[in-house]
Amino acid sequence: MKIVLASGNAGKIRELQEMLAELDMQIVPQRELNIGDIEETGLCFVENAILKARHAASESGLPAIADDSGLEVDLLNGAPGIYSARFAGETATDASNNRKLLELLGDAPLQQRSARYQCVIVYMRHATDPTPIICQGSWEGHIALEAKGDGGFGYDPLFYLQELNCHAAEIDKQQKNLISHRGKAMAELLAKLAADTATRATAH
Ligand code: IMP
Repeated sequence: MKIVLASGNAGKIRELQEMLAELDMQIVPQRELNIGDIEETGLCFVENAILKARHAASESGLPAIADDSGLEVDLLNGAPGIYSARFAGETATDASNNRKLLELLGDAPLQQRSARYQCVIVYMRHATDPTPIICQGSWEGHIALEAKGDGGFGYDPLFYLQELNCHAAEIDKQQKNLISHRGKAMAELLAKLAADTATRATAH
């Protein structure tokens, strides 16, 4: 069985495909089916994840998985939040987003720079699925005063993990998948999918 992955973000697709490898399913990024990104008009992660999954399911006729995620910085009252990908504007890159974040935080000391990644993953069995499976994970850290590491993507070079004394871009990808916001949301999805499949199988 095929599932379409409703994302155009290469870093996310890589992580989601690694986490979904244990499923006996073919995971197809939407771009391979010529499905483009939909405008993220929701006001929270859940709304945007549902919009993306519904769009991909509707265009492909396949079940869809979508992730909507972002960074919440306490000193910035939760920004960039759902606007994390386009923090530095419509043509933002990871580098320009990171630069803007460092500028806004100025020289605030590390202990005041608390932040967390949030991730919502949605699974829709079909485009009009009235009960999508919705899962959520978060990952606590601090925004460092300078970037370090070249792994991961997005804000990972600035995301300092106190308990490991390193930046998210310095840990290996298996470790990130185990402890990250996306890893936690995906572990919940895998468990819920297994339970859903078992319940539906017994009902027949
Ligand atoms: P989305 O595609 O609208 O969900 O935007 C997600 C954005 O949040 C990404 O483009 C990154 O800027 C940020 N983000 C989400 N997850 C991660 C992560 O695991 N590492 C670094 N940045 C992330």
